[in-house]
Amino acid sequence: MKKIISVLLFVLFWISPIKASEPQPYVLLISLDGFRWDYAERGITPNLDKIKQEGVSALSFKPSFPSVTFPNHLSIITGMYPQNHGLILNFFENLYGERYRLSDTNAVKNPAWYWGEAFWETARRNKIITASYYWPGSEVWDENRRPNYYKAYNHNEPHENKINGIIEWLKLPYNERPHFITLYFHDTDSEGHKHGTNSPQIDSTIAVLDSLIGVIRQRIELIGMKDSVNIIILSDHGMSNIREDGIINIKEIIGEIDCDVNSSSAITMIKPKNEKDIELVFNKLKKAEQNYKVYYKKDVPAYWNFSRNPYIYPIVVIADVGYKLIYGKSTYNAVAEHGYDSHHIDMHGIFFAVGSKFKKNYRVGTLENVDIYPLLCEIFKIDGRSNIDGNINRIKYLLK
Ligand SMILES: [Zn+2]
Repeated sequence: MKKIISVLLFVLFWISPIKASEPQPYVLLISLDGFRWDYAERGITPNLDKIKQEGVSALSFKPSFPSVTFPNHLSIITGMYPQNHGLILNFFENLYGERYRLSDTNAVKNPAWYWGEAFWETARRNKIITASYYWPGSEVWDENRRPNYYKAYNHNEPHENKINGIIEWLKLPYNERPHFITLYFHDTDSEGHKHGTNSPQIDSTIAVLDSLIGVIRQRIELIGMKDSVNIIILSDHGMSNIREDGIINIKEIIGEIDCDVNSSSAITMIKPKNEKDIELVFNKLKKAEQNYKVYYKKDVPAYWNFSRNPYIYPIVVIADVGYKLIYGKSTYNAVAEHGYDSHHIDMHGIFFAVGSKFKKNYRVGTLENVDIYPLLCEIFKIDGRSNIDGNINRIKYLLK
């Protein structure tokens, strides 16, 4: 018996160091801003087509509501809906009148705005080195809450620099090398807003980004890491053209009642300065309700998960797809927009993944973006936060 026990102990001790030294996987997470689901179905994306054969692809990738950039990049990286991770819009105000704005570097770097735990924080706690060539929330002051390596955002950074940057990271000595890297391209969002979803400009941008995916895969192969780097390519939201008669001026409907207003094309939040005016403003908007929906904050439908955050104003107006809300004069003249109902197919993005962890030639339906955080935890075999909205069981089937 003693002999058996000692043999068992020997086997256990012998097994455990092998398990501990199992190589960490690599994941490169690429976001193509505003890359609508059907852009990959236009016959101009041979590199994404190749990934369909070699890896996993989804029919569409559903954003969280509202379908705008910062909230959704945070939903992807934290596994939480915007109302829970704190970034409810690209710009908003907290209860103390402090503003979060994309263009305000101080606000963007202030960790107090970010309530969720980003995957790079989870990874760092688990001794995984991380890096980011851009991602909303990756530049916070608190070193423990950002990736080990990160870049200050530059909208005009050449594509080539970004690709060189991630290859350099992958060539670092093993004990300095990041295993989780994010990469971001804004191009399809910018061109989509400017020229619309059916323009020759958007098609050529789609083709350029697709060719960059090809270059990235080729460069990774050249450094001998093709089999070890898993690549996930996704987008934060889709895009929809604005009808020519689709402008709705909310100020004209409300009139001269003094209100704090947070106005973007798809969503306008309204807080009358005098609380007594809330019902009056709501009733005016309800009476004129056409091509938009108006809700009291508490009544925003549960399927949008947009009523529980303290920074959401008492009245929420959401435009129908194809319409655009303005408040007073507007000089912003985009021809296509996003931010609308996240269930509408025009707001859906793409999801592709390829690498040793993923099934091959596996096509699935619609995936939800809050499920990426638990998927990353599963790939790296680490425990993630439990207070998330994502669910590993909705996405685990993508893995081998
Ligand atoms: Zn975006």
